[in-house]
Amino acid sequence: MQLSDYIRDIQDFPKPGIVFKDITPLLANAEATKSAVEALLNLNGNQPIDAVVGIESRGFFFGTLIAQRLNCGFIPVRKPNKLPAATTSQSYKLEYGEDILEIHTNAIKMGDRILIHDDVLATGGTAEAVCKLVEKLGGEVVQCNFLIELTFLEGRRKLKGYQAKSVLSY
Ligand code: AMP
Repeated sequence: MQLSDYIRDIQDFPKPGIVFKDITPLLANAEATKSAVEALLNLNGNQPIDAVVGIESRGFFFGTLIAQRLNCGFIPVRKPNKLPAATTSQSYKLEYGEDILEIHTNAIKMGDRILIHDDVLATGGTAEAVCKLVEKLGGEVVQCNFLIELTFLEGRRKLKGYQAKSVLSY
């Protein structure tokens, strides 16, 4: 099973010059999805995890699946004003301007061992912001894992000091 066969490149989406890594063909195939879950679990090894934090929105697909397999809970990190209870937020820089991510303040307990997951590591700004959110709540970031890493964008430089791993590199 070659997982890369199930990742589709979409040129110029969402804007000119971007090659979007589309994981919907992977999600549409049960065997490929199972294989991707196994690959993500292998990245973690046997490190104990108390909760998986997934990043809106494509981080929710595999985030919940790996949480199930790790026998732990899943915690969503969302764009502003989506989560209903009290939230903690973190701003981060985009190419132009700034964005904000939020997490439920009571979602993580002091000392919880957290696995952060997203579909794609690009420039790393998003994952870095989520690491900060987890730490603001007293959690320990055990690993950040990704299905896909766009190595030419050097996102892991922003994740220095964290364990960052990916299944597929481009
Ligand atoms: P970054 O903060 O630059 O690492 O961007 C990561 C976020 O943007 C992730 O949530 C990805 O889902 C999304 N993303 C960035 N670049 C791409 C891409 N080329 N294809 C698909 N998703 C992307």
